[in-house]
Amino acid sequence: MDIYSGHINKLIEQLSRLPGVGAKSAQRLAFHIINMPEGEVKLLCDSISSAKENIRYCRECFTLTDTDLCPVCANAKRDHETIMVVENPRDMAAYEKTGKYEGVYHVLHGAISPMLGIGPNDLKIKELILRLEADVKEVIIATNSSIEGETTAMYLSKLIKPTGIKVTRIASGVPVGGDLECIDEVTLLRALDGRTSL
Ligand code: ZN
Repeated sequence: MDIYSGHINKLIEQLSRLPGVGAKSAQRLAFHIINMPEGEVKLLCDSISSAKENIRYCRECFTLTDTDLCPVCANAKRDHETIMVVENPRDMAAYEKTGKYEGVYHVLHGAISPMLGIGPNDLKIKELILRLEADVKEVIIATNSSIEGETTAMYLSKLIKPTGIKVTRIASGVPVGGDLECIDEVTLLRALDGRTSL
């Protein structure tokens, strides 16, 4: 017999589908939401729906943005001839937070993982190659140092090298398996400065 009403169970079930939310946290969140004032619940629901409706991929770098071009791509002061390839918008945000990188980005939305059945066609790789037809001096591969990140880096370097464009890989000061977003700014900048040619 279910202890909770069907509505609560449904809410708990939906919340527990979110990454990092276990059964216990889902219950805690569900009861918290139910005890919130109605106005706040509506605000939460509205912000989820409007984020989903209004956020799209940047036309150039494929990060998530409200506008056709993200603020980085739209900024003429950035060095548009240097492209840093990252796995996801959170990694891009980590580098942006350092305030020291002046180039632009390309967001792959994942990494190659045969285990999970994620191949090159599931990522924004074709879109990256298309961007290389413009004037590009360097592609910095800043995928994570996980097996998937390294596999992706190797794949990209083989793909880009024949174009004659310089391909570099951020230094492996980044802990193995480390998510870029969890790494402090100093380590990120050291990894960027110590990048090596592939
Ligand atoms: Zn962009």
